Amino acid sequence: MNEPLSYVTPGPDSPWTTYLAQVDRVLPYLGPLARWAETLRRPKRALIVDIPIELDNGAMAHFEGYRVQHNLSRGPGKGGVRYHPAVTLEEVMALAAWMSIKNAAVNLPYGGAKGGIRVDPKALSTKELERLTRRYTSEIGIIIGPQQDIPAPDVNTNAQVMAWMMDTYSMNVGGTVTGVVTGKPIHLGGSLGRVKATGRGVFVVGREVARRIGLPLDGARVAVQGFGNVGSAAAELFVQAGARVVAIQDHSGTIVNPAGFDFGELMPHVRAHGGVAGFAGGEAIDGEAFWDQPCEILIPAALEGQINAARANRIRARLVLEGANGPTLPVADDILAERGVLVVPDVICNAGGVTVSYFEWVQDFSSFFWTEDEINVRLEKIMVGALKTIWDTAERHKISLRTATFAVACERILMARQERGLYP
Ligand code: NAD
Repeated sequence: MNEPLSYVTPGPDSPWTTYLAQVDRVLPYLGPLARWAETLRRPKRALIVDIPIELDNGAMAHFEGYRVQHNLSRGPGKGGVRYHPAVTLEEVMALAAWMSIKNAAVNLPYGGAKGGIRVDPKALSTKELERLTRRYTSEIGIIIGPQQDIPAPDVNTNAQVMAWMMDTYSMNVGGTVTGVVTGKPIHLGGSLGRVKATGRGVFVVGREVARRIGLPLDGARVAVQGFGNVGSAAAELFVQAGARVVAIQDHSGTIVNPAGFDFGELMPHVRAHGGVAGFAGGEAIDGEAFWDQPCEILIPAALEGQINAARANRIRARLVLEGANGPTLPVADDILAERGVLVVPDVICNAGGVTVSYFEWVQDFSSFFWTEDEINVRLEKIMVGALKTIWDTAERHKISLRTATFAVACERILMARQERGLYP
């Protein structure tokens, strides 16, 4: 007999509803462990905090913040902190749950957590943002820590925000604790290779899957939506492997070049202008036409919910590599499967970032730092191994890579739950 959660009433489009539907799909593959599955359907702990700050003009402002620890069976919580005006408890719950799945899928010794503040950070000055971050860190300080829960950057948070969080936590406990957050500046205990880690992971997973389906990278056409941290790093590695990036869309515009963009010219243009719009080495097209571009590999690396049913019917790729979190709606997932387009889900495809975050945390504990080469080699080994396990699971049960990733992850989480037993 399970009491429903009283503190959220998820609607059909809620990310928490999507997550619960993904859990439902995996239940038949969990065997006797399904007995523990209700654990996956409720967060272990959800903290809502009030964050009062004084604005630069002397006025007071209050913001609502969250830290959700979805599951801690396999280790401390791990997951980013998002600053966005649309953040809700329900969204943070779903993001925390997906972190449980992602961390278990790549076998990192972590549970899943996520945090957020409902705020438009662009409306705040740097000083206001610092006060907001410090008060939030203090408020959630009762549940975070290097052995409890380790935040990291997410949408609209960065290395500077992590430095403020690390400093605030350290001030409160009376000593410098670098391992309380990851994604820090390099000279404050950050890790080499972190910035490009997610894109690198997308490439490694994509290369492995391409090999398995007999798709040569040499000459393969790649389309990328989102040319930021994740999309540009992944695209560049595909180009180095011989692929041609033929279409790019970002917030500034959409450009195509069937011969492939010259990255030596494109990257300086993006750095100088903040986006791909206006790049002379490509032709500008209408944004919606991006989804009609012929390509072998499509990398959504911008926002969630981008691949809806209509776009799924038009996509001309063989392989979709989910760099972004949640870019494909469940209905679109089914359409792509029917059309024979293979989707590599976010929970494995973009796990390179949290994997190098894990390396950062390990390096902080030992105060001994690795070279970028060492980091990339270890990242590659973990991603290749994780993909193999998931691929074999998908083949064995004849299920999608998404359901297979959930199956592998949920089995690990629930096995840990079972072995630990119920307290008291
Ligand atoms: P970013 O801010 O560096 O880049 C985002 C890119 O998306 C930019 O090029 C921006 O122009 C583009 N974009 C924004 N709105 C758009 C729109 N309406 N249409 C088309 N393009 C648009 O962000 P990022 O770090 O590259 O993250 C991208 C995605 O990857 C997010 O979903 C994020 O949650 C996910 N992700 C990031 C990491 C990481 O380590 N950075 C890890 C895991 C998942």
